[in-house]
Amino acid sequence: MSTAQIRLNDRVAAMQPSATLAMKSRAAEMRRQGHPVVALSAGEPDFDTPAPIAKAGMQAIQDGFTHYTENPGMQALREAIAEKLERENDLRVSPDQIVCSNGAKQSIALAVHALCDEGDEVLIPAPYWVSYPEMARFAGATPQVVHTAVDHDYKLSPERLDEALTERTRLFILCSPSNPTGAVYSADELEALADVLRRYDDVLVLSDEIYEYVLYGADHVAFGSLPGMRDRTITVNGFSKGFAMTGWRLGYLAAPTPIADACAKIQGQFTSAPSSISQKAGVAAYEMGSGPVDDMVAAFRERRDVVVDRLRSLEGVQCPMPQGAFYVYPDVSSYFGAETPGGETIKDSSDLCFYLLEEHHVALVPGTAFGAADGLRISYASSMDDLKTGLDRIEAGLEALR
Ligand code: PMP
Ligand code: GLU
Repeated sequence: MSTAQIRLNDRVAAMQPSATLAMKSRAAEMRRQGHPVVALSAGEPDFDTPAPIAKAGMQAIQDGFTHYTENPGMQALREAIAEKLERENDLRVSPDQIVCSNGAKQSIALAVHALCDEGDEVLIPAPYWVSYPEMARFAGATPQVVHTAVDHDYKLSPERLDEALTERTRLFILCSPSNPTGAVYSADELEALADVLRRYDDVLVLSDEIYEYVLYGADHVAFGSLPGMRDRTITVNGFSKGFAMTGWRLGYLAAPTPIADACAKIQGQFTSAPSSISQKAGVAAYEMGSGPVDDMVAAFRERRDVVVDRLRSLEGVQCPMPQGAFYVYPDVSSYFGAETPGGETIKDSSDLCFYLLEEHHVALVPGTAFGAADGLRISYASSMDDLKTGLDRIEAGLEALR
């Protein structure tokens, strides 16, 4: 019997799987095998989708609103998004400049593919969300990673941006509030970055604002609302995080017309519009009022305070205070070189996370996946009980290292 020779596309073969999703599956698999794993690795709210949104989705099904919509998303949703961007973000775009997709992840992939060619560079501050460099590489471009420091709250300074920009930089990806650090850039900090970019006409900005609503006192400033930035910014946002709608798969981008048209063209050939049912639910999300979102954010804030307090009490752990999103990114590099009770050496955050998972049954995501190996990501989108148990296990795990 002959066996087929399977040869994959070179770029697919070179692609790293998503470490955040991989950790989620590994934790689920260990649980199925009977290990009592506490997963602090998930990047999604642990709350159910608020009832008015869920109801709108059910209504859409009952009403037979179950057909393809216009490719960039139904007009009513794009109008609602355009109104939201003007009202909340001081960003004036027409509904024609908005493309709704199956999650912000797809929106980012569309923009990167619409803009990047072989040889282009995509500037990405680290720690970064795992998918940005892979998307850039998949489009044939080269990710150019620029490191930030824990004692600057992992924020990129204008000087570092200036140094990192080259003639080949096509796109600069900014994520505020940040996954994985929870850092939030202030209006002044964003303005200082914009000021550098004004000297580089060809550089576009992808501003990933998906954690916009998950803030603990800081204000959200849309990068595209800064003077002169609208015509070079692709604003990406979505419903997954702020409205606890990860499974509905709904996100969007707003961009200058040629970019929005190009993204819509790719979408028209690859996936078509997102689910009609989710789009109806998305309209309801904007009509709902902020009560349910405020409740979720208040719960995240309480958990953040508990987690950060606890981490700061651990020897050798440096932990900035996150201002948004639901992640903390402690620096744990003082443990590198330590030995486990089983005699293994912890070389980096990947070894540390593997050890904490296998020996202490707590799932975290290693900093190696975010391009900043000194840290690791802890998600506090989990119940307070799970967080307390998880932190006990982290503490016990670190104490057992020599
Ligand atoms: N950007 C960031 C920074 C994220 O954390 C996520 C969540 N995975 C996304 C984009 C994509 O979210 P979604 O596709 O669920 O809208
Ligand atoms: N944004 C989440 C995370 O970073 C979800 C997983 C993913 O899509 O990568 O964990």
